[in-house]
Amino acid sequence: MSREQVVVEQTRRAFQTGRSRPLNFRIQQLKKLQSFLQERQKDIVDAQKKDLSKNKYVTELFEMLILEAELKLAISRLAEWAAPRPVEKNLLTLTDEVYIWPEPLGVVLIIGPWNYPWCLTLLPLVGAIAAGNAAIIKPSEISLNSSKVMEEHLPQYLDKDLYPVVAGGVPETQELLKHKFDHIFYTGSTTVGKLVMEAAARHLTPVTLELGGKSPCYIDKNCDIATACRRITWGKFLNCGQTCIAPDYILCESVIQSRVLEEIKKCIKEFYTDNPKASDDYGCIINQRHFKRIVSLMEGSTVAFGGDVDESQRYIGPTVLKGVTGESRVMEEEIFGPLLPIITVDGVEDAIQFINNREKPLVLYVFSHDTKLIKRMIAGTSSGAVLANDCISHFVDSALPFGGVGYSGMGRYRGRHSFDQLSNLRSCLIKQLNLEVVNSMRYPPHTGRRLAW
Ligand code: NAD
Repeated sequence: MSREQVVVEQTRRAFQTGRSRPLNFRIQQLKKLQSFLQERQKDIVDAQKKDLSKNKYVTELFEMLILEAELKLAISRLAEWAAPRPVEKNLLTLTDEVYIWPEPLGVVLIIGPWNYPWCLTLLPLVGAIAAGNAAIIKPSEISLNSSKVMEEHLPQYLDKDLYPVVAGGVPETQELLKHKFDHIFYTGSTTVGKLVMEAAARHLTPVTLELGGKSPCYIDKNCDIATACRRITWGKFLNCGQTCIAPDYILCESVIQSRVLEEIKKCIKEFYTDNPKASDDYGCIINQRHFKRIVSLMEGSTVAFGGDVDESQRYIGPTVLKGVTGESRVMEEEIFGPLLPIITVDGVEDAIQFINNREKPLVLYVFSHDTKLIKRMIAGTSSGAVLANDCISHFVDSALPFGGVGYSGMGRYRGRHSFDQLSNLRSCLIKQLNLEVVNSMRYPPHTGRRLAW
């Protein structure tokens, strides 16, 4: 029996004891998760520095604070989320009890990515615990140092049998995927997402797939270009472009292309100095494979700014590409790195057509003062989310369900949406055994009866 099989069976047995269900237990575990994040903060920050050259401030701002807010929300709202939800009654159910009761699904498998290994692995865990499930946590082996901290320390805080951490890479994940779960929550690439869904289908296991894709960013020529470019530069080069919701490419009219380029250059220098390689605020590419992949994406495009690389440090400077078309190498796959192509289009309708000719993205970004234009883009396209006049910040709002559509994923999470996603929203109808007379018309024999409708 493999180690993974042992863990899956042990977790299922722990779930069957029923101890993950009481609300006070769920809250206690969520509070322990809070203690873990507070007490192990230094280990987490150090691991992120080693894996991705992320500084302390970035780790705290983009991982810890979001997790802390999610935990506080779940703890304060759990009773409300878990309560039976009465539904509207009709003539037939007037005297009955009719409600939706969220019950735990069972054992959830969480497969995390490496780019924000804490937030994107533990946010689904908050939802799983809040919904009363057991969960097996499989952190990404690529962010090895974070994975080690999680494997070593998390079991000291959480119920070890209900929430085990299984570290490992592809073979371990594939072994886990052979087994039956009640839900699989996967965050990562579309390619692996398909494999996860295939494995899940063998057991009819429902999946949440948080995938990637090429998120477009349209800049209207009549907007405040300086502010737009400042926000885009931040969203793109944060974590060296290794953010699933980073703007992948810019679409704008050719009349503003050089202005956009100048403003982005200015912002890169302001944020990361003239020498981003030496900047504490600019990270590195996670590994050699991704480094080589990103460098090869520049082929065939003109480097308008940056383009400097150093393989020994897995460094790729903030880079802007021009002369890019829909057929360029850089448009063949999600960049997931610090390259920002600018593609020129003939206005908003042309941009909509360009977007609709490709797979549905995780986010559509649009910068404009014109609300009508923004609404036109929303109506004319499809994506997991739309964010107008900013980048990234929709992820912070847990009232908005986060997720993709089509190739960018399926299922939604954050806050109450995580709770619902990882619950069985069970329909409950409690009738009485009296008033049998109202049922008389349904019983046979029906011969000779007529319905008046
Ligand atoms: P990945 O898909 O290669 O890895 C993610 C996880 O899958 C890891 O735990 C890994 O062990 C496992 N895995 C990898 N190959 C596997 C295989 N053949 N069989 C079974 N399991 C396997 O992740 P990546 O490509 O390095 O991550 C980048 C991608 O993730 C980007 O496309 C990015 O957009 C996406 N992403 C999406 C979100 C989101 O919230 N939508 C967040 C972060 C990253």
